[in-house]
Amino acid sequence: MARAINFNPGPAALPLAALERAQKELLDLNGTGMSVMEHSHRGKAYEAVHNEAIALVRELMGVPDNYDVLLLQGGASLQFAMVPMNLLPAGKSADYILTGSWSQKAYKEAKTVGTVRVAATTEKDKKFGRIPEQKELDLDPNAAYVHITSNNTIAGTQWHEFPDVGNVPLVADMSSDIMWRPIDVSKFGLIYAGAQKNLGPSGLAVVIVRKDLVASGRSDIPTILQYRTHADNNSLYNTPPTFGVYMLRNVLDELKKAGGLAAIERVNREKAKLLYDVIDERSDFYVSPVEKSARSTMNVVFTLKTPELEAEFLSEAQKRGMVGLKGHRSVGGMRASIYNAVSLEWVKALADFMREFKR
Ligand SMILES: *Cc1c(COP(=O)(O)O)cnc(C)c1O
Repeated sequence: MARAINFNPGPAALPLAALERAQKELLDLNGTGMSVMEHSHRGKAYEAVHNEAIALVRELMGVPDNYDVLLLQGGASLQFAMVPMNLLPAGKSADYILTGSWSQKAYKEAKTVGTVRVAATTEKDKKFGRIPEQKELDLDPNAAYVHITSNNTIAGTQWHEFPDVGNVPLVADMSSDIMWRPIDVSKFGLIYAGAQKNLGPSGLAVVIVRKDLVASGRSDIPTILQYRTHADNNSLYNTPPTFGVYMLRNVLDELKKAGGLAAIERVNREKAKLLYDVIDERSDFYVSPVEKSARSTMNVVFTLKTPELEAEFLSEAQKRGMVGLKGHRSVGGMRASIYNAVSLEWVKALADFMREFKR
């Protein structure tokens, strides 16, 4: 069986070993005679998986003790609503920095909940082709929080240095670059990520939130939408997406075996460099629409001269087993998503193909 060389933007490639482990354990989890999906979420077998997944998030990211790690349903999009519902009380306002369509969506959703401001936007700069500089940020020192999108999956830009927001909690949607490298979690009030890009299957979101923000969060909203409900119940308030959590565990276990975040960062940087080097080679056969300093290490966006050439590129790539290279429908062009599970070997194959196609 030939596995596709998968550059899908999300859901995306998963580590082969994590899938093979699931295959091996599918009918019988640790000698229990059942798959993980058939276990009670209150039983020992599932609980061990659940707690291991949370412990791995803590260990790999170095999550400090004063943070909760929550496993929630509803994807990143539910967090667009839960963040303001919990952290934006009446009489306060929240700042949003708009760097792409996902941050626009987060902003729009927050507007339905409370008062929000745009602290900066790069929409007019070649359609989100860059990340704002610190001096461009119009930050409200009394804001309830500042929201950013750390990696703009569609535009292909990424925050390489996080903004200084003073004492205001920084909230980051890290759906498409969580765990691509080590970060200092203590700089954030809350981090959230839908799992289906760098962590596992869809249907699961990881939320890392400072405990004081959980405690001070609003309690006049539905129970299921309060962070404290999930924090108080170890994310077992109701039935969690057990198979998704199991896969998260498998993926993170592989990441740990591969040396953790420092090791994956080296590989990720090498992968991104391979593709940007081809794009930057003399001639404008491939063009990156993104400012150099803002280029994403996860989603490499580029265009070719004509739609016909782009169609031919995709079709030739497909013949070589490479899939998922079409850009988002809203921006067109090409996009190679090279998340943690996309191997250096696959990216080398793509870089070689790009040179060959150009010739
Ligand atoms: C994919 C993505 C989302 C949407 O995630 P869902 O889980 O589908 O809600 C949100 N933000 C970013 C940055 C993304 O890449």
